[in-house]
Amino acid sequence: MTLAPERPQTGSLVQQFEYGLDAPICLTWELTYACNLECAHCLSSSGRRDPRELSTEQCKAVIDELQRMQVFYVNIGGGEPTIRPDFWELLEYAVHHQVGVKFSTNGVRITPERAAFLASPACNGYVDVQISLDGATAEVNDYVRGPGSYDTALRALQNLQDAGFADAKISVVCTRENIGQLDEFKALADRFGATLRLTRLRPSGRGADVWDELHPLPEQQRELYDWLMAHTADGEQVLTGDSFFHLAAFGESLPGLNLCGAGRVVCLIDPIGDVYACPFAIHDNFLAGNLLDGGFQKVWQTSPLFQELRAPQTGGACAKCQFYDSCRGGCMAAKFFTGLPLDGPDPECVQGYGEHALAGDRTIPAASQDHSKTNPTRNQPVMLQLLTRPPVSDCAESPLAGFVPDQT
Ligand code: SF4
Ligand code: SF4
Repeated sequence: MTLAPERPQTGSLVQQFEYGLDAPICLTWELTYACNLECAHCLSSSGRRDPRELSTEQCKAVIDELQRMQVFYVNIGGGEPTIRPDFWELLEYAVHHQVGVKFSTNGVRITPERAAFLASPACNGYVDVQISLDGATAEVNDYVRGPGSYDTALRALQNLQDAGFADAKISVVCTRENIGQLDEFKALADRFGATLRLTRLRPSGRGADVWDELHPLPEQQRELYDWLMAHTADGEQVLTGDSFFHLAAFGESLPGLNLCGAGRVVCLIDPIGDVYACPFAIHDNFLAGNLLDGGFQKVWQTSPLFQELRAPQTGGACAKCQFYDSCRGGCMAAKFFTGLPLDGPDPECVQGYGEHALAGDRTIPAASQDHSKTNPTRNQPVMLQLLTRPPVSDCAESPLAGFVPDQT
């Protein structure tokens, strides 16, 4: 059995995190690739269920193991996790085993009854709900998430508020289309007694197909940085999931670890039990192993890929940059999926080196997997247009095709 590199006992917390921890502090678990929507930028190209999805009993065994490893919470996503018929059973199982759950949903099954359950003592503060919304208006949101998805998300937020659920999250992927709406997003969050959470668009999954069209322009990155500095400074709560640390090269660092945690403190379990270095790195190059082969702990602690990611990094071309200590060269997944070297600048490097690198020779890696319902859109950035024309049949592009609403 290979052992992880020895973690230093001194130095800052961040320096220690770089060597990896005995258990991840940010574990994402995608329960299913099935989804009622088919968002243009979905990081996991979700849509269709993988028939090899872990069974209820296998999922419970994973939760048991997370409890033993003292993983205090898990981010559940997908796909649309609430589509799994056993989702609520698994949620309760996790809560009863002291594994807190933060789950991301498009809101489709957050009915008044489910909202009341989430607000009830049964969940005991162990459950956090993140409603995905990528536009502060229906026009902007539905452009990427599909017709009707804005209304669905707002209905879910209303149901949670009416049920007395405290502090839901509104989770926004920042794009070229919505950077101008940051104040409106904040106002929406305030209206629903929720907290705003902003995350970065990565060119992963179907996001690779629309990244050129949707990733924020350089001047919008500056606008975002200034807005975040103003709203994360004096205690006003806007969460970022630590995803904008490449913006630190504008000046001061934003709150957070400011570190690529892939394989060190971050990882992903996918619906069939494959473990990847990061939720935004679903590709064979970042596949560490499968938890059905000896358990999650074995993969986390002994996979050669994770050992490699935990080894000291040189910084490569970025080491010469005066902002390297805060920016760290940016996001590994963003570099990989735009065909840039992993030891060079981030494609959105705020010093402009990313644009220079993007203009050079590069090969964009082919996706290892695709769960889209409408495969012809893969690698053809036309999906946004496809969403605007009527569905060709009931089962083709309707966001709710084949979906039976939850009656409970
Ligand atoms: S690869 Fe990117 S998204 Fe993943 S942990 Fe590193 S910085 Fe974060
Ligand atoms: S050159 Fe590298 S370290 Fe410097 S700002 Fe750009 S991505 Fe960050």
